[in-house]
Amino acid sequence: MSDPNCVFCKIVAGQIPSRKVYEDDELLAFHDIHPWAPVHVLIVPKVHVASLSDVDASHEKWLGKMLLLAPKLMKDLGVTNGYRTSINTGPDGGQEVYHLHMHVFGGPRPWAKG
Ligand code: 5GP
Ligand code: ZN
Repeated sequence: MSDPNCVFCKIVAGQIPSRKVYEDDELLAFHDIHPWAPVHVLIVPKVHVASLSDVDASHEKWLGKMLLLAPKLMKDLGVTNGYRTSINTGPDGGQEVYHLHMHVFGGPRPWAKG
């Protein structure tokens, strides 16, 4: 259920510190260590699933909860003008940490034009 070499499993287990913003029995959300936006949080399942390509029907409940949590967290964190969600999957998807996670980027985007 957890991978001893996985950085997000270590965060879930409290072996690596993180700035947590939400936790329940199935999910953990915390600030990204290298934020790309004024508010940049990661939502992860507590169970180790390497990527979105590895999900199955038994994961349906917490997958749905991840989407429901994003707007709640943005509201709680004071993001009022929109945000972007992203699940990077596999090498061509730009995934670096192989424990499924959803990025939620809120606040003005430094890369946005104008
Ligand atoms: P990926 O490219 O896999 O979608 O994104 C992985 C994200 O995890 C990156 O944005 C990176 O900054 C973040 N990250 C990697 N290691 C840690 C860590 O130890 N703590 C936190 N809070 N974020 C991490
Ligand atoms: Zn893991």
